[in-house]
Amino acid sequence: MKIYRARVFTPVADPFTTDADGSYVSHDDGFIAVDGSRITSVGPWDGHPDGEIIDLGRQTLLTPGFVDTHLHAPQLEMIGSYGGHLLEWLNRYTFPTEAKFSDPGHARKVARALCDELVRHGTLCALIFSTIHREATSIFFEEAENYGLRAIIGKTMMDRNAPDYLLESAKDSYDDSRALIRQWHGRGLLRYAVTPRFAPTSTPEQLELAGALKREFPDAYVQSHISENLNEVAWVRELFPEAEYADVYDRYGLLSDRTILAHGVHLTEEELELLSRRATRIAHCPNSNLFLGSGLFPLHRVIESGIGVGLGSDIGAGTTPSMFTAMADAYKVQQVQGVSLSPFQLWFLATLGGARVLSLGSETGSLESGKSADFLALDLRATPLLAMRIERAASIEDLLAALIFMGDDRAVRSAWIAGRQVWTAQPLNSTS
Ligand SMILES: [Zn+2]
Repeated sequence: MKIYRARVFTPVADPFTTDADGSYVSHDDGFIAVDGSRITSVGPWDGHPDGEIIDLGRQTLLTPGFVDTHLHAPQLEMIGSYGGHLLEWLNRYTFPTEAKFSDPGHARKVARALCDELVRHGTLCALIFSTIHREATSIFFEEAENYGLRAIIGKTMMDRNAPDYLLESAKDSYDDSRALIRQWHGRGLLRYAVTPRFAPTSTPEQLELAGALKREFPDAYVQSHISENLNEVAWVRELFPEAEYADVYDRYGLLSDRTILAHGVHLTEEELELLSRRATRIAHCPNSNLFLGSGLFPLHRVIESGIGVGLGSDIGAGTTPSMFTAMADAYKVQQVQGVSLSPFQLWFLATLGGARVLSLGSETGSLESGKSADFLALDLRATPLLAMRIERAASIEDLLAALIFMGDDRAVRSAWIAGRQVWTAQPLNSTS
């Protein structure tokens, strides 16, 4: 048994629907007890059980690992490619970048870089788009496994409206996806997501086969995009004149409680109602929405519709893998719409809320007895300015706010997944 001593903060309930006070547990001087891969108890230091003590000090905050509910692994190297809104940006930067993943050596290099960046930024669980390439997708799975990451990954499916070099037949796409599901879905901490990129790049035949995969493997995930940009919404209306955007996915059996759609900035009331009925979830990607000028996400309208929302970095349209930035940008996107999110709400979205969106809420996302030991040690003195700001933090709420708006990868001192240390910026002291 290992006993980690430091400050402790964890969400335990949804602060959008419960009292802020009842939504978290916080100890100024606390502990997490870990036996193997599991958390066995969490509490104030004076109630700690016996075990090997790892004292991290009061200037360290133990908190759950971050959960990124939407990102594109192959786009890591094109972050900050500027100019243009969504559809132009895809053609100008994204498709040529993704084409390079026909080379397994390139895929290996980027997969390792991505895993490095995720753990270094404290993201311990992620839902990830690959490219159309089967081998590159396998390589992303292999590297996630090597790093010990909890990851849901899918091979992108596209059979129209992209350059020829990124198109496949609907049948090949089905066969490759099926082989990948059989190889990777449910192996250790890895899961598979059936991944039509978005309605415009799939023919009805391909969407039909994506739905067939979901029927064949009911516990596999589905990920795609929806209503990110107004030109995209208009294009979907041209391609599928008889249906609204969400209906297109629904018609092919792609909406369920294991479906996560990125963005949802411009959804209609009818679409919100449909997604709610299907228990489909939304990955809100504020950094990307601002970068591509896609629009302002109506968070409260979506939550009030009963739809689960998590945060996504959406790299490479998002400009950093940092979930600190995702929280800060989510705050700002709501601020300009007249709504102030609390630090507790933001932290929930980046941890337990994201885990629930991925149907992993009973396994990860919070520090609670019985859950997987997926946690971070954040350094409250990571930079001189952060140390100065934290010094005057009068409450845990204020301390979290300082981290949200000033924190970055420098604050992530160490990270553990299933009790195993997957990242450290410096060796830890251990005393028995
Ligand atoms: Zn995306």
